[in-house]
Amino acid sequence: MSDQRIGFIGLGNMGGRMARCLLDAGIEVVGYDADDKAAQRIGVTPAPSIAEVVGAADIVLMSLPDSHIVEKVVEGSDGVLDAGRSGQIVVDLSTASASSTKRLAARLAEKDMAYVDAGVSGGAAAAERGALTLMVGGDPAAIERLGWVWEPIAKSVVVMGDSGAGHTTKLLNNFLNAVSLAATSEVMVAGKKAGLDLHKLLEVLNSSSGVNFATLNRFPKIVDGDYLEGGLTSKLMTKDVVLYGDLVHELGVSSMNISGPMASFGLATALGYGDVISNRVVDAIGDIAGGIRLYES
Ligand code: NAD
Repeated sequence: MSDQRIGFIGLGNMGGRMARCLLDAGIEVVGYDADDKAAQRIGVTPAPSIAEVVGAADIVLMSLPDSHIVEKVVEGSDGVLDAGRSGQIVVDLSTASASSTKRLAARLAEKDMAYVDAGVSGGAAAAERGALTLMVGGDPAAIERLGWVWEPIAKSVVVMGDSGAGHTTKLLNNFLNAVSLAATSEVMVAGKKAGLDLHKLLEVLNSSSGVNFATLNRFPKIVDGDYLEGGLTSKLMTKDVVLYGDLVHELGVSSMNISGPMASFGLATALGYGDVISNRVVDAIGDIAGGIRLYES
């Protein structure tokens, strides 16, 4: 099936890397991004508009910042919905509001188009290697047709259920990611201020009950000065936490733990770290602890 063509809207940190994996697998990719240099930079065939991407391919992938922008791209004039045709599949790889996703899926269904939500996990590093984890929701018949699209970008694809189930799963995962990153940042700054050897601290945490994704995968690099640039920013992390709050509110579940990550990533944004990788939250916490840095070159 690799003779097929894919449309791609949103060629940023994640979308750009996924598009490159598709290209490397011999799939033609026609792309559009608000940044008109992005398509060329990545090597996909540039399209001058959303409508032309939709006109060029039966399957259109999107990796956009948030639901507000997804809605604009899908429902705006000359957007995906206007330009779309019966039988097309649109896949939203963004981290987006599940209720917005369900509404868009219903609107596309009126035109006999499928809208599949695919939350993406693994960050820029996994996107680069084509080793993402995808959590997918939507019409099973449409999902069935997407196997060859997943192949170059994902190592694991879990179909979670109907429309919105993929994005719901992603928001639940990201909340835990936000909590563990914010809490571990605080602990590492305290460890540094207490005069501990941070490599030894991580060794202990990683064989004790404090172990988490941040202690295992982020901080062993950060303590040596590598912040793993290129991944999710603090602004996007805040967006994910806000979407989680909306989700649990709609479900009637009280969140007792949302204030920690909201405050931490809000602080990072306020101190000027909003557009860099969210791992920099440790520097924001370090700043207000008296200018603490885990690594000094
Ligand atoms: P990004 O900001 O690097 O990329 C978004 C791209 O969308 C940009 O290139 C931007 O120019 C483009 N864009 C914005 N408005 C547009 C419009 N109206 N039309 C066309 N293009 C438009 O963000 P990212 O890090 O690639 O994240 C993309 C999505 O994936 C977000 O929803 C994010 O939460 C999610 N996500 C990110 C990561 C990560 O580690 N970076 C991991 C998993 C999921």
